[in-house]
Amino acid sequence: MRQLSNSEIVQRADRAVRNENELTIAILDCLNEIDRRSLYLTEGYSSLFDYCTRRWMYSRSKAGRYIAAARCLKKYPTARILLTDRKITACGLSHIAGLLTDENAKTLFEEVSGKLYVEIEKIAASRRVAPKIRDSVRPIGKNPTPAIGMNGADSDDLFQSDPFASQSRSGTDCNAKSPPPEFEADSQNGTDPIESLRHRYEIRFSASEEFCRDLERAKRVCSRSWNLEAILGRALKDLLEKRDPERKEARRKKREAGKQSKSRGDLRSQSPGNPATVGGARSATEKKSSDEGAQASPARSRHIPSRLRDAVFTRDEGRCTYVSGDGIRCGSTAHLQIDHIRPFCRGGEHTLDNLRIYCGKHNRLAAREMSLADR
Ligand SMILES: [Zn+2]
Repeated sequence: MRQLSNSEIVQRADRAVRNENELTIAILDCLNEIDRRSLYLTEGYSSLFDYCTRRWMYSRSKAGRYIAAARCLKKYPTARILLTDRKITACGLSHIAGLLTDENAKTLFEEVSGKLYVEIEKIAASRRVAPKIRDSVRPIGKNPTPAIGMNGADSDDLFQSDPFASQSRSGTDCNAKSPPPEFEADSQNGTDPIESLRHRYEIRFSASEEFCRDLERAKRVCSRSWNLEAILGRALKDLLEKRDPERKEARRKKREAGKQSKSRGDLRSQSPGNPATVGGARSATEKKSSDEGAQASPARSRHIPSRLRDAVFTRDEGRCTYVSGDGIRCGSTAHLQIDHIRPFCRGGEHTLDNLRIYCGKHNRLAAREMSLADR
């Protein structure tokens, strides 16, 4: 393999996928014939499903998919044409199998022809009545590892810092392996915090498209180490920070205490024998800190200001901007990083024109290509 050129590898892989497709159709045809003759029974299996999972060692999901696709193939000649032309996969076929009727088969096949699996999922969902899912929170067992969900951000993450940190005044840093909100001690009802650490809960609810869009957006702007629990946990924290009356009251008291101590300080500074005014003291401090800043700041900093990061993210639509020689844009939304077109180490600036979003893999590829070009 290592001796082959890139185009040879690509051709070989395409050929293998074509072969795989032909083999899949052959397997589905065999399944139908085994089913028609009830051969699985004479071979010692209770069902076609049992035959697939035990004799062929297919996973339960693969067995289910193949059987559904095989029955589809048997009933609808169009399914065979689409499968042969690779306009649909066995997996895609199995996804619409339960929805097909003699009346809708023609239009449904036209709709899914040539579509990606995720698009077929959406088409199928649009034709299906959503099952009723009741909101539920139920304990499912003990938790072997208490710290979960937020495993610290990767250093090369585009949004490694907590994007909500500036808004939240709770002082909780989600990257600091703090336990998620539901594991915080419940002192009011006397629950032992150590005991509650040991339990995990399953939470179920159905959600609207808008909710899913917001969730997808939240995933993009958070560190990739944040799972669903971390994201929703942070959203809950922010909501409670704004709406929880106890927290609002605590903030109010803090503000009032601050005002009182400030007015006491004002009175003291205005008393005779104390020449320094509050204003004078502040300007001296400000001058000192700005002098320190001027001395401490290096000529060039790797830090990209968050406003610039946001501008790059918005311009590039939150997707990898890598474009292949054939003009195919990667467009990945996972593991995004900010890349300097002219590398920072070679004098590249933090400017909108010199920055772009690349996924981690394309960022590494670009770095490799650059170092090869240097040789
Ligand atoms: Zn990419």
